[in-house]
Amino acid sequence: MEYRTLGLTQIEVSRLCFGALTIGPLQRRMSVADGAHVIRSALDAGVRFIDTAELYGTYEQIRVALRTAPHDVVIATKSYAYERQGVEASLKAAREGMGRSVIDIFLLHEQESMHTLRGHWEALEGLLEAKQKGDIRAVGISTHHVEAVKVAAVLPEIDIISPLINVQGIGIQGGSLRDMEDAVTEAVGQGKGVYAMKPLGGGHLIPRWNEAFSYLLDQLNLDAIAVGMKNASEVRRNVEFFSGSRSSAWSALEESRQLHIDDWCSGCGKCAAVCSSRALSIVDAQAVVDPERCVFCGYCGAACPEFAIKVI
Ligand code: SF4
Ligand code: SF4
Repeated sequence: MEYRTLGLTQIEVSRLCFGALTIGPLQRRMSVADGAHVIRSALDAGVRFIDTAELYGTYEQIRVALRTAPHDVVIATKSYAYERQGVEASLKAAREGMGRSVIDIFLLHEQESMHTLRGHWEALEGLLEAKQKGDIRAVGISTHHVEAVKVAAVLPEIDIISPLINVQGIGIQGGSLRDMEDAVTEAVGQGKGVYAMKPLGGGHLIPRWNEAFSYLLDQLNLDAIAVGMKNASEVRRNVEFFSGSRSSAWSALEESRQLHIDDWCSGCGKCAAVCSSRALSIVDAQAVVDPERCVFCGYCGAACPEFAIKVI
């Protein structure tokens, strides 16, 4: 396994980051024991970086996995909080939920631009104060938007950026793949630690698995990539790839994902409002998904009051 220091932080991570969204209630809905088991198999294989979020509902799985971790693990989490009080509550939930006195990386979730960052500035100040006190080691943003990467690249308050980027540009908002590449290059040049999310475009790039990871690891030379993994064999295959194997024999034969919408959907539109990929629309009082745009993040499921939409 290769390890890197994230930008100018002192935080060393494995380039393979365990993306915890997959095991949680928004996607595979694994039990605490089963989710913790998959995480542990990754930690045992040398993974030292876990990416989660308050929204993902995976703190308990992580806490159980960390109880007997064979080495230190860097944890990144995220909050949608706008204000100081909200971000303090998010930090408390993360520390208690995962049983950690210090959270290594705390990100403002799904930022879009300077405008949204301004709207979250009080939360950012709360995170910076927590960093000052030693409760957090680094502060940053996660985003699908080119503009947010550009802005964060030059903000001295930001240490870490987790952008959506993949070889086909699936899910990138506010610009092309080339625009995102330029923004990421600028961020790296400014000393930001950059780790990618959605390397397989939510599953669309599974047939190009090899090429998709090589693009981020070798071509863009990113510090790390968050990869969702749901069982020990996926962990093993990814660990081998990130440890230097680039064999074409590793092309994955995964089952494909789908976004399922139940017929009791009321057409309220709350799911469409949170979909930053703009993959949902309301037609004849029913949510309808554009499968080409959906990156299967499951965030719409968390917003649905009827429990009518989920990734399967
Ligand atoms: S939030 Fe749920 S009920 Fe509302 S439109 Fe979306 S799927 Fe339907
Ligand atoms: S439709 Fe739902 S699962 Fe698909 S990208 Fe939008 S929020 Fe994510």
